[in-house]
Order: sequence, then structure tokens, then C-alpha cells
Amino acid sequence: MKAYGFIHTHSEYSLKDAPLKLADIVKEAKKMGATAIALTDHGTAAGWIEFYDLCKNEGIKPILGVEAYIRSETNSRTHLILLAKNYTGYKEISQAISDSNENIERIADMDIPIMTKEILQKYLHGDNVIVTSACVSGVLSEILLSRKKIQEQVDSIKKKMDDYYSPYDTGYLKNKELVSSLDTEIAKLTAKKEKLEIIAKRNFREQKKSLSIYKKEDLSLYEERKKQLEKEEQETKEAKKSVSEIKKQIQNKKRSRTLINGRCKDAEKKQQKYIEAEAEICKLTKKLTTEEGAIQKVKKEISWYTSFLGESFYIELQNHGLAEEAYVMPILASIAKEMKIPLVASNDVHILRKEDADIRQFIRSLRFKKYEEIGIADKELYMKDDKELSNALLKILPKDAVLKAMKGIKNICDSCNLVIPDTKHYPRYRDGNGNIVADSAALLRKKTLEGIPQRYPDGMDDERTKQMEYELNIIINMGYADYLLIVADYVNYAKEYSKKIGKGIGYGVGPGRGSGAGCIVNYLLGITDVEPVTYGLLFQRFLNPERVSMPDIDVDFSEEVREATIDYCRRKYGIISVAGIRTVGTQQGKMVVRNAARFLGWKYPDEKEKYQQLGSAIASAITSSVNKEIDEIRKEFSDSLSENILSIATRAEGIANSFGVHAAGVIIGDGQPLKEIIPLLYNTKKAQWVIQCDMNKGERMGCLKMDFLGLKNLDIMTNSIRLIYKRKGISIDLSNLPFEDVVFKEIFAKGNTGCVFQFESGGMKQMLVKFGPESFEDIILLVASYRPGPMQYIPDMIEIKHKRKKAEYIIPQLEDILGKTYGQCIYQEQLMDIFHKCAGFSLGKADLIRRFMSKKKEELFLKEKEPFLEGIIKKGASRKDAEKYWNELVEFAKYAFNKSHAAAYAVISYQTAYLKYHYPIEYMCGVLICAKIEKLPVYLYECKKCNVQVEAPDINLSEEDFFIKNNKIYFGLSKIKGVGEAGKIIIEERKNGKFVSFADFLLRVNIDIGK
Ligand SMILES: [Zn+2]
Ligand SMILES: [Zn+2]
Repeated sequence: MKAYGFIHTHSEYSLKDAPLKLADIVKEAKKMGATAIALTDHGTAAGWIEFYDLCKNEGIKPILGVEAYIRSETNSRTHLILLAKNYTGYKEISQAISDSNENIERIADMDIPIMTKEILQKYLHGDNVIVTSACVSGVLSEILLSRKKIQEQVDSIKKKMDDYYSPYDTGYLKNKELVSSLDTEIAKLTAKKEKLEIIAKRNFREQKKSLSIYKKEDLSLYEERKKQLEKEEQETKEAKKSVSEIKKQIQNKKRSRTLINGRCKDAEKKQQKYIEAEAEICKLTKKLTTEEGAIQKVKKEISWYTSFLGESFYIELQNHGLAEEAYVMPILASIAKEMKIPLVASNDVHILRKEDADIRQFIRSLRFKKYEEIGIADKELYMKDDKELSNALLKILPKDAVLKAMKGIKNICDSCNLVIPDTKHYPRYRDGNGNIVADSAALLRKKTLEGIPQRYPDGMDDERTKQMEYELNIIINMGYADYLLIVADYVNYAKEYSKKIGKGIGYGVGPGRGSGAGCIVNYLLGITDVEPVTYGLLFQRFLNPERVSMPDIDVDFSEEVREATIDYCRRKYGIISVAGIRTVGTQQGKMVVRNAARFLGWKYPDEKEKYQQLGSAIASAITSSVNKEIDEIRKEFSDSLSENILSIATRAEGIANSFGVHAAGVIIGDGQPLKEIIPLLYNTKKAQWVIQCDMNKGERMGCLKMDFLGLKNLDIMTNSIRLIYKRKGISIDLSNLPFEDVVFKEIFAKGNTGCVFQFESGGMKQMLVKFGPESFEDIILLVASYRPGPMQYIPDMIEIKHKRKKAEYIIPQLEDILGKTYGQCIYQEQLMDIFHKCAGFSLGKADLIRRFMSKKKEELFLKEKEPFLEGIIKKGASRKDAEKYWNELVEFAKYAFNKSHAAAYAVISYQTAYLKYHYPIEYMCGVLICAKIEKLPVYLYECKKCNVQVEAPDINLSEEDFFIKNNKIYFGLSKIKGVGEAGKIIIEERKNGKFVSFADFLLRVNIDIGK
């Protein structure tokens, strides 16, 4: 069970070819005592970083590599293994893989990146990458096999030619002669027959009549004529006989002619085939070299590789029992011996154990859309130990070659020593000219200070000034000055852009999102619109100096500006520095069940229908009760067909089957091309470059992720304020709205919150009426607490708010912290405050403990229990109360919500409520414009509820979209179900005059009604 190492391994990221999870590969390798293991997925490095970390954790050396697809001279797709020896090699392969994504071929619904020799030569320098000749589809095997394939084709054609006729065949020529001589004879006979027929057809009636006259008048003449007549009659009689004989002869000759001619025709067809086959052989033999010729070609190919790789080029030997391997591998081994090329043995690992071959076959069948039989070789693609591997090779190779190849494994494993450095690749801010700003810290300070007059027209107080200074220091010391400058830059670009396309009016960026709202510097830079000190939002929740953490500024954009803003970043930071993030789609739930049924249908075509019906039934059983355990479903469907489906589905669930693009995440690099840091993938569907690892691994590689999220409410509000400006000339600054009691009273407290952000649900509306929010703090509280979990505290809060119950605090300081949430601990910030103000912890430490509690790292937060109790007892609590309170906090911590996020979203809630209250017609028109057609009935009902009149569509009045006229909203033509784009055509034609009748409409507008 011992293996020194593995140099050729495929994971699930070899999409639809291998079912292996990275963790399982590493675990198995560890179990087998391997020192090193390579990951060589087909054309991709999607598993690299995850694999690297998993190996490091298990104490196995990771070798990062790829089995690239490479075009051969005969234009087939061959394989080549690249393995990184060190970090330079990592970067070389990373760039080569990225560039291969510029040559994507679409095969069996999959994107196949094609590596070229030019790419290899461009990036592989010196001694940093080991290249091996890969499998039986590899670069060298292909030359020998394509020759062999041609030879086999020639041989098979030659064999078929035995059945064909050569045009020079003597039998055919004789027959052909025979036919023509028969033709002559038939013609001759026919001519003769025709002549005789004339004689045979003669009749002698007239002559006999005149003979009787002669008898009376001239006897001598009579005698003469009589003799003459008798002679002629005799002749005719004989002619008749001859004609019938000749007819028979002709018939016989014709019969034999038909027979022989048929043989000739048949032969001619086979001759045609013969000629074609001759031409095909001629064509093939032109391509066909001798085996020796092919060997020379292989040697030439090897020399090409060694010319720039030297001893880093290996010939890889494999044997999985394929006839092709038995032919190719011994030849390659002897060439290696002759040319002194190092050998390496490998098994083409696609599965852990023999028994897993059926799951691999399942995913491969999905790829090729037909049942893929399990061949003998398919069962051999498992992780073999050294003994199994060398035994397999010995079946087809001489002992010395096998020994050398096994030693090759050790050589490669020992010479690959990749260490990925922990370098940060944080983006660098660039000025308007595209130059990196040297002193970004100074610039950040300058820009932050510049924001003061706008945010605090009356000047900033001491508390806030101190907070700003504190934050600036931490941000700068932790190295995030550039990051904040970049975010501020694109946020401001998006705001300007939104205004630009709306003739000065637009609201393209949300007030904030996530923990970023807790940072006053963000507020001063214009990244967020919530004043953090007022609402007790904590900076440490955003950036904790006691924890090396990535800050996370997520920004919401209107759809109108989102793409344009990402484009702006591409322009500014360079296409080589900006990329999206890869996601992975997996075999899941009902889909995998349906696929399993499909696969079994292919496997047992006779029972196809049965499987398919059953698959659908099981699939819907799973979806109808999402939490139903698979065991329960098993009980329900316990016949053997269902067993089969479920067995495959459960084992295949969770296996990767496609790569996608993260909806919002964007990486901006530090100026060094991203493809040197992480391999890039080109997603053809989205036409976008993405990093080949996921979000977390991207951050682990030192990159900063920025979220560009789309939020439709921003489009709604933008539409509304543009309409308000157009109709009333009022320009509304949404980022600076006054909090008005009347909005809280009329919209929120009355539950009048249809179309109000975050407050739309029926349950929420009922709760609002009971709660009766009166302030912005109340709105934040409800955004944070109306969720499963903290919802249970709401009835208590209502009681306390309406003074029907009194909140109890074990020490008075708690009232300051929990008063605004009516005695409950709802926010993470409150939890941190309790630790900080009541128990004397630093805010950074408090943030750490909060994280331990929410992540249920019990042993870590339990360590803090005693210090907490001591701290709070010092403030005056009894030990018993303190203990009890600790337990309560542990409970609260499970649900505690990020107040920064709640506050920023509560701003949007207030903004939408404000617009709805003051400008209902414009607001609802904005809602309708942005609505999906299927949601229109809900919004139309909401219009009715707030007395906004919506007119039915009018062919002569309605615009393409909803619009306002005479204080009414007119239905948009394109928003009528089924009309869509045709609305545009109608409006275009209407410019030529109103439609006067339906007939007029039909005649003037060319719309395909069938569509
Ligand atoms: Zn291969
Ligand atoms: Zn392979």
C-alpha cells in the first residue's frame, strides 16, 4: 500500500471526467504514505490553491500542474503534463494556462482551452517546470498511434479490396467479349430472320386464281406456272420453319447475354469501388510513414521539447491494459534509452478505487450524452501503490525501463518544491493619468479631510475627529489606504455616471452595505451615507486591528451603472489587472436524480421509460420536502430500479460539473498581471475573464475582492426622482433626506409599507402596526430583528416599548447600550459594546470574542467567561446575575446582526418610504417601470391602495413604458404580456398619425401576431 508519490492526478475539476474531491485525493495519498502528489486537471488550475492548502495541512508536498490540451501537427488534440518545480514555475504555468484560454474550442458542450507550442515557448524558461509526455493521448504517443491508425486503415481497405474487381480482371474481359459477340450473332440472326419472314409471309391466292384461267386457255403455260407455284409454296413452307427456329436461337442467345452482361455490370460496380479504394490508399500512404519514420518524428518532437526544457522533459510510461499502450510504451521506452531522456511512471488517476469506475462513467455519459461502457482500462484509473504500478508496467515493458520510470517518480517528487509566498497583491490607487500614487496614505488623509465640510457643515466635534484620526491610522497601518481610495473613486464615478445619464438626476449607488457603514472615513469619502457615530456603528466590526482581516466594502449599484462602473475599473487599472471570480456548479438535488435516471435509461434502453418516470417521481419527492432525508426517500422508493437511481445520485451529488462567474465579485490586482498570480479562465458565456480559484482562495492569494452588487431599488428610486424633477422641477438629494415623524407615522406605523424596501411582507406589516416605530433607530432595529431567530424577542420589545413591561438590567451601563433596542441585545455592535464598556475588554478583543461565539468555537469563547464575569462584577453585578447574563449573551450571539448593515439598509427603507409618502405617483411609476411583468398585478393593487390611478393601455397614448400624464399613470405598451419589443414598433408608427381603427392598426403595423 505504499506509494512514493503521484505525478498525474485528476480531480472533479477535470469536469465530467473525474469525480474526485480534492480532500479525498489528499487523504488517500496520505494514507498511502506519499511524500508528494501532483494535481493535473485537464486544461485547468481550478483546484490549485485549495489543493495546495489541503496538502500543506496534511503534511504532503503539493505539486501544482496541469494536463494541457495541445494541438498536434496532424491537428488532433493531444495531452501534455506541466508541473511546477517552484514559484517561478507556478507563474510560468499560470500564464500559459491563462493564455490557452484565448484559444477555446467548444466540444461536447464544454470549453476546452488549447495550449500551443508558442505559448509553451513564451513562458517556460529554464529549470522551473517539469514537462512529461502524458498518457496514450499524449504528444509522443499520438505520432506513433496516428501512424498506426493510418496503417490499420490501409490494411483494412486492402482487405476489403479482396471483394472488389480489378478493372484488369481477365474473367471480366472475356465476358465483355462474349457479350459483344453475342450481340453480333443476335444481330445477324435477326437480319436473317427478317428476310425469311418476308418469304414466309407470302400468300398465293392470286396466283392460284390465275392458274385456273391458264388451265382453260394455255395448257403448256399452265404446267410451267403450276410447277413454279409449287416450288414457291415449298419455299415459303421452309421459310416458316426456319423463322421459328431462328427465333428460338435468338431467344437463347439473348438469355445468355443478359446473364453475362449482368455479371459485367456487377463487376463494373466493384471495379468502381476498387478504383476508389486505390485512390484512398494512395492518399493515406502519402501521409503514412514507416514505423521508423514515425519514430524519427517522435525523436524530433522530443528534441523540440528538450531544446528549451533540457532534462526537465520526461517520457511518461503508463499501462492500464489498453492495446495502444502495449504498442506505444515499449517504443517510447526504447527511444528514451537511446536519447537518454528520463522516464517517469504514472497511473492516470481519475478514481480512488476500482469500485468508483461507475460514478466516473456516469459523469462521462452525461458529457457525451450517451451511455459510456465501463472498459477494463476504466477500472485501472485508480491510485495504485508502487508495487501495483510497476507490476502493471512490467506486463508491457522491460524491467530496466520500469525501474528507471519508478525512480523518475522519486526524482520529480523530490525536485518539485513549490512555496507560494504570502504576498499581498492589494490594488494600488491610480490617479487620473493612470499613474500609481506613491503616497496613498497622504492622499487618503487629504481626501478624507476634504469630505468634512460637506458631511459636517457646522464642523466636526472632538469625538468624531478623534474617531477619524484613529481609523485613518489603522487603515493606513494595515495597508488599506489604496483600497479605500479605489472604492471611493469608483463609487464617485458611479454616482456621477448615474447623474450624467439622467441629465443631472440619478441615484446609482446605495448608502452602504455590510460593515463598511461603521467607518467614519468611508462616510467622509462618500462611500457610505450613514453617519456611524450617531447610530453607534463600530469601526472594529469593519477593520479589526487585533485580527489580520480583509476589510469588506460591498457596494450596491443600480443596474444602470453597475456594468459601466466595472468597465471604468477595467479602463483605469488595465484589463490585465481586473477579473471576476470563478464559481463552481455541482450535480445537485433533483437534477442529479433525473440525470441518474437518464443514465440508467441509456444503460438499459429497454427499460428507459420506466427509469425516466421513476426518476421524475423521486426528483419531485425530493423537492416537495427539501429537508427530507435521503434514507426516508429510500424507504418510499425501495424497488431495485429506484435503488439504482438513488445509489448513483447520492454518490454523484456534489461533484463539480460546470464553472460559472460570481455575480458581484471583482478582483483588482496590484498592477502585476493577475495571470501571474492566479491562473485566469475565460468564461465564454459571460464573455469575461475570471480567476480560476474561488473567492476565498483569491483572498488567500493576497488579492482583494470588491463586490459590485446590483440593487433594483436604486433603479426604482432613480426613476422616481427623475420623474419628480421632470414634473415638478424638484431635485431630491436622497443621500441627505430629513427624518420626518410623518413618514414614520403614516407609512411605517400604519404598516403602509407595500413597495417599501425590506418591509413588504404581510407579517412585517402586521408587526409594524403593533410595534409603532417612531424613529430611524426603530427602523434599523426592525430590519435587524425581523428574521428567524431574533424574531422571538420582538413581542417583548413591543411590550417594553409601549411601557407595558419594564426592561431589567443587571448593571445600569447596560441600559445605555440596550435602551434603544428595548432591553434586547440585537446587534453585534451591542455585544461588542457590552464586552467593552461593561467588562473592560478592548473593542478589537470584543470583536474576536463575538466571532468565536457566532462561529460556535466554544473552547475559545469559554476562555473569556471568567474575565467577563470579573469585569461585570466589578461594575456592580452579583456573581449569580453575571453568570446568568453570560448564558443569555451566548444565546443572543447566535443571532446578533451587523448593525452597520441594518442601518445602511434601513436608510433605503426610509428613502423608499419617504418617496412613497411624498410623491406616491412618481414613486409607484418608478416601481412599475422596474417591475417584472409577472409582479405587475401586486404593484397595480398597491397603486390602488395609495390612490394612484393607473389607466389601461391606450394604443394612441401609451408610451413604451409606464409614464405619467394628467396625474395618472399610463400603462406601458411593452409591459403588456406578450407585446414586449413590439411596443416600440407601434410607437414608431404612431408618429405617422393616430390609429383610427383596428383595421388601420393592422394595416400600418407589421407585427407577427403568431409570435
Ligand atoms: Zn491524458
Ligand atoms: Zn490524465
